[in-house]
Amino acid sequence: MTQNTSHTTNTKNSTTTSDKPATTPQRKPTTTVKPQAKSTLHPRNPHQGRYDFERLTKALPELAQYTITNPSGEPTINFSDAEAVLTLNKALLALHYNIKYWDLPKGYLCPPIPGRADYIHQVADLLNDNNSGSENKKPHVLDIGTGASLIYPIVGSQSYGWYFTATDIDPVSINTTKTICEVNPNLKKMVTVKQQTNPKNIFKGIIGEHDYFDITVCNPPFHASMQDVLDANNRKQTKLQKNRARRNPNSQNANRFADAKNNLNFGGQNAELWTEGGEYAFITRMINESVDYAQQVNWFTTLVSKAENLKPLDALLRRVGAQQIKTINMKHGQKSSRVLAWRFK
Ligand code: SAH
Repeated sequence: MTQNTSHTTNTKNSTTTSDKPATTPQRKPTTTVKPQAKSTLHPRNPHQGRYDFERLTKALPELAQYTITNPSGEPTINFSDAEAVLTLNKALLALHYNIKYWDLPKGYLCPPIPGRADYIHQVADLLNDNNSGSENKKPHVLDIGTGASLIYPIVGSQSYGWYFTATDIDPVSINTTKTICEVNPNLKKMVTVKQQTNPKNIFKGIIGEHDYFDITVCNPPFHASMQDVLDANNRKQTKLQKNRARRNPNSQNANRFADAKNNLNFGGQNAELWTEGGEYAFITRMINESVDYAQQVNWFTTLVSKAENLKPLDALLRRVGAQQIKTINMKHGQKSSRVLAWRFK
């Protein structure tokens, strides 16, 4: 069942004790809780229910060679096989986003597309809710840490016609995304790629003096060390194997998948997945920097993967003078995540 909840704290005029100045008079913050959507994914997310292998294989015939049948007789792939996952992604991008060419360098993070698309549809609601997209102009979105996959710019530009500036610190990701834009004419005119040359910076060096963004999005590197990355992946692989073995205890596949430990099936280079201090440190830096761009960005947003980080981040946002803070909860299958959004107006 889906739990898409949205929780708004309007800190306009709230009491703040600030590192950086909050200039507004005082009033008690208001909190709004939006009703929950019924389905697992956002209602506009096209990736509802099971993958449609017939349509996907039509869009990308090479998917056929990775398609297997699960114990209930339904088509699927081996999600522990990185090549199979990559090919499924190519097919999804071809079918739903008209992407004719997309590939990743070996070992790079291969994003699960349905969950990534959900963030974009939540962002669309945020833009509409507040009439923040200029009336006759399509919104301009800044994607912080686009990865090699360019996933948010692809989904956002092809679903809504938004313009994107996509950043990353990793030169291989930057080159890959440039190639993806170059060979897909429907992306070329919508997406600009910019390398962040200082890994300590997030907006600085990217948002120029005369730039304006309707919204920023980010899926931050969330582990604090490479060991954390491996531990989390092992937990995920063990869960995948247990689920398979439970569904079909006699299957040969149940044993085959047991070798998948330590195999990062969704890939991910070291720097992509972890950052000193984990996501908390990364988002803290982002919030502190956002103050300097308060007038050039309407909404700042980021994914927060650890729920326990929300409270201290909310406290920081109040200290730096955010006027509105929203938390949008998302749930896809077993995985919960949330979007934290804030603005200074
Ligand atoms: N958006 C992609 C990738 C997320 S992984 C997805 O959702 O699948 C996080 C990304 O942030 C990595 O590609 C990493 O290289 C990048 N990154 C880390 N520090 C950064 C910084 N200071 N500025 C921009 N990108 C950064």
